[in-house]
Amino acid sequence: MKRLLKISLTYLVPAIFIAILIYGLNFNHQIRCILVEYDLSSLRKETDNLYVSAGMDKIDAALLKENIEASRKRLSHFFDTVYANPVFLAGDSENFMRTYGAQLNSPGMNHITPIGSYIVLGPKGLNRDVISHELVHAELVYRVGWWNREMEIPTWFDEGLALMLDYRYKDSDAMWNILTKKGEEAPSLKELEKMKDFIRITQKSPYLSYVTSMREVSRWWNVVGLNGFAEFTDRIKNGEHFPSAYKETENKFSRMTKK
Ligand SMILES: [Zn+2]
Repeated sequence: MKRLLKISLTYLVPAIFIAILIYGLNFNHQIRCILVEYDLSSLRKETDNLYVSAGMDKIDAALLKENIEASRKRLSHFFDTVYANPVFLAGDSENFMRTYGAQLNSPGMNHITPIGSYIVLGPKGLNRDVISHELVHAELVYRVGWWNREMEIPTWFDEGLALMLDYRYKDSDAMWNILTKKGEEAPSLKELEKMKDFIRITQKSPYLSYVTSMREVSRWWNVVGLNGFAEFTDRIKNGEHFPSAYKETENKFSRMTKK
């Protein structure tokens, strides 16, 4: 017993300490968000799920609350029911995204962690399109579960679905046709599976990554609809792999519409 304790103290405790240290160094933005409740010197708590930078104007904060509410309604109209209730952190300075978000040059982003989603909005992300986009990511992970989302959901599906409720690209077909020569030079879905490749292609043009993804997900959604989406997320939640869940749902619902 003593020997076991000695081995634990010699190897296990340092290993756990190193693991926590590595996680902290790599995921320091996530940790800041998770510990948001204890960061009230630089943030102001507006509601249970909304923290804004301490200096944010009261009217801007009120407008943001309205925009979050309107975005939730946008999702409710589309998904019928919205289950996810992520925590929002929002700031009106460029520095905010660097502190709580990521190094990406993005107006908003989502830390999807095993204990919940934390949406970070910078000054250009306080609007309904960016908020709706990030809420869709939170809704998808709520429905399929964190692990399944990490393991099964390709980036193109996650981003394509989010873009359907993000109207910044609603008139993007003409640009997509020009840039891809009517789809001939569009990236394949395989190339858009992993986030690092998705980002690389986005750097060439978001019309190539985001719009290619949205076109495919919209096509699929038009076949499966809300009931098909619910069945698809249940299949993933129950352990089915993405390619089969995606295709089988489409097959089943296209047969139903043909009847
Ligand atoms: Zn996104």
